[in-house]
This record gives sequence, C-alpha cells and structure tokens, in this order.
Amino acid sequence: MKFFSTHNKNIYTGFEEAVINGLAPDGGLYMPEEIPVLDSSFFDKINEYNINEIAFRIISRFTGDQIKEPDLQEIINSSFTFKAPLYQLEKGKCILELFHGPTLAFKDFGARFMARCMEHFVKKRNIVLNILVATSGDTGSAVANGFYNVEGINVYILYPSGKVSFIQEQQLTTLDKNITALEINGTFDDCQRLVKQAFVDPGIKNRMNLSSANSINISRLLPQSVYYFESYKQLENKDKGTVFSVPSGNLGNLTAGIIAHKMGLPVKKFIGATNSNDTFTKYIKTGRFEAVSSHRTYSNAMDVGNPSNLDRIKTLYDADIFNIRDNIFSVSHTDHDTLEGIKEVYEKYNYIIDPHGAVGYLAAMDYKDMLTESCNYVILETAHPAKFRDIVEETLGIEIELPERLKTSLEKKKHSIKLSGNFDEFKEFLLEQ
Ligand SMILES: *Cc1c(COP(=O)(O)O)cnc(C)c1O
Repeated sequence: MKFFSTHNKNIYTGFEEAVINGLAPDGGLYMPEEIPVLDSSFFDKINEYNINEIAFRIISRFTGDQIKEPDLQEIINSSFTFKAPLYQLEKGKCILELFHGPTLAFKDFGARFMARCMEHFVKKRNIVLNILVATSGDTGSAVANGFYNVEGINVYILYPSGKVSFIQEQQLTTLDKNITALEINGTFDDCQRLVKQAFVDPGIKNRMNLSSANSINISRLLPQSVYYFESYKQLENKDKGTVFSVPSGNLGNLTAGIIAHKMGLPVKKFIGATNSNDTFTKYIKTGRFEAVSSHRTYSNAMDVGNPSNLDRIKTLYDADIFNIRDNIFSVSHTDHDTLEGIKEVYEKYNYIIDPHGAVGYLAAMDYKDMLTESCNYVILETAHPAKFRDIVEETLGIEIELPERLKTSLEKKKHSIKLSGNFDEFKEFLLEQ
C-alpha cells in the first residue's frame, strides 16, 4: 500500500516513511492510495472478535508488508490495552466511551499506536529518535503517555508555564524516564516557534534525529477507525442503520470514521459536531471554506479555526461538496447550549457527559428531529468528564469521582525544566542531551 500526499498524487511513499515523516515533503497529508474493502465474512463474524482482533484486521490492510504480522500483532496488543464500551442511554441512543485510556481521552488510541509504530521502525533502523512536541495542554499528555517507556525514543514536551490546567500539567510533568517536560516562560505560540526553529537548525539536525509525532500522522488516524467497528459490534439492532455523532476540531476522528465507512462499515450519516468554532459547519453549509483564528470554549479541545484534516476529507470525497453533504451533516453549538446539554443528559439519563460529548449529543438530537425513521445514534464521548471537572461539577451541582489513574498522576511530584523561550538556550539544552 502506498501513501500519497493530499497536495500531489505523484508524491507517495510506504507506510514506514509516512509514519517517520509525519507530513509529506510538499506539506500535504499522507493518505492511503486506496481504501481496502473488508469482505462480508468480517461483518458476519464481528461479534466473535475482540477489539485487538478487529484492529489487526483493519490496520494490517494498510501496513501490508511494511510491518510483519507478528510484529503488528504485538504493536496492537500493547496499544489497545483498554476498552471502548458502548453505553446505552436508551434504546437506539448510545454513548461510545473513548476515555478509558491513560490520559482519559480518545487521543490515547492514536498516540499509543503511533508511538509503538515509531519504536518498531527506530529499532529496525538502529537509531535514537528525539521527538519535540509543543502543547497547549491536551495533545501533549496523550503523546507523552503514548511514548512513555518506549525504547529508543526521547520526548521533549514544551508547554507554556502557568497556562495549562493543574491536571494537564501533572499529566505532562510526572512521567520522567524518556519524557522530559520543558516549562517555557511564554505562550503556546512561543513553544511552537522553538520547535519549528529547531527543525530547521542545521546545528541540531546534524547531531540529532528529530521528529514531531504530529497529530496529522497517518499512524494516529488508522487506530481511530477501529473503534467505529468496535461500537458497531456492540449495537443490538445493527440493521436499523447508524448515525455517528463526532465532536470535532481538527477532524481527525471524523476522518477515521469516514475511512471505516469506506472499508464497508454500514453508516447512515456522520455528524461533525462543532462548538462556536464552526468553520467546518459553515463549509458544509456553503461549500466554501474560510479559515479563521480560534477562540476559547468549554469544549476547548475542539477550538480549531483551520482544521488540519479537512484536506483528507475532501480527498475521500473527491472534493465534491454534494457527495460530502450526502454523508456528513454538521451543526454548531454555543457554550450556553453545551451546559444545557450536560444538564439534559444528566437529568434524562443520569449520565455524566463531558463538554465535548455534550456538543456531540446536541448535534445528534438536532439530526434526530429532522428524521422521520428511527435508527441507532452513537455519540462519541471523547473525554472523561473528570478532565473538565470544574465546568461539569458547577453545571450539575455534584462532585465527580476521579478515576484511579488520574488520582495517581495528581499525587506524583512535578518535574520540569524551566527555559526562557530564547532559542539559543533551548538549542544548548538539546545539544547537551
Ligand atoms: C482532540 C479532541 C477532540 C477533537 O478531535 P479531532 O480529531 O481534532 O476532531 C474532541 N474532543 C476531545 C476531548 C479531544 O481531545
């Protein structure tokens, strides 16, 4: 299987290069040259497979001969170490809980699999890889955790001092071993500037192998397709047709769903649920895309003004807006709506949903109102409500029990290295490692 650049179909490479490079040399995103279609026996037997078996049957179609089957099996077994259970609110209305991983968000699926793919290729090449990540909070913790204890890879996480939440900072700074937290005196943009400058600095490039573990890495996308199949497996009335509501920011999760659909997963409609950062919703409505800068909302992991995976979605539908609209509905909801959504889910179903999931829930209910026939609704719950404890507790007037794995990281001692934001100082630090 080849992976081509969304900017130019003549630029392509194999899975290994696509994973190591992250971004194609022309700045495009890598896409598989074709989406393999699973045969009907897979769906006939899906109830017999556990999530790892599903993952192997999906992902091996893309990795082909670039990872030997027993190696891929091992990578999958050490990545998919937690479940993706479907929780039924009522008949035909379900929550797909994607927060059972170590950092309590769906990004654990992608980050863990990417880390272990990279480990595999780094071992094969007999090199040491240094990963630089700038984070405003959430992505950093999933990446740090994904790479924790992975051999041959050192991770440097740059985060803006005093500008991430206590929970996020604890998740970034308490791992140690191959994960180093760099606390930068500046903003997220300063962190990003330092990382970008390091990548083009000849003095650093000559001495170290750098990589970015970027969120657009193809190896983060493929494992996300897996849980769409996993949720379908758990549905009672599969024949009724299924609508997936996906709380969306950079559209990675939605793209993974579309790939699953193209592989044969029966899907009636996807809903790209946005908060008031609604460029995608406007694009679906008008067919024209306009990037804007983002603003902060309660569902802040979706605060994106220029979604990086839109190019992938366009590629999947040959940039045909009518085709896209046939498959995807989109609606946006404000912060005020979000709080109402959290309340409604709690009052109606006694279920505590996080602000991101609430946006997904509201969008699903909007779509339900437009349909006359009944079908299954699967709402992706992308984070554990405890991650957004303050908002949820205040909205519902209750206390949220913290999961054990979060409690443990909150009790650990913070360990970070403070840097000023000056590039020369950062460079000196890197070269001393
Ligand atoms: C990243 C994230 C999203 C948005 O996912 P995309 O793949 O960027 O669309 C939604 N919810 C949570 C909790 C996230 O961390």
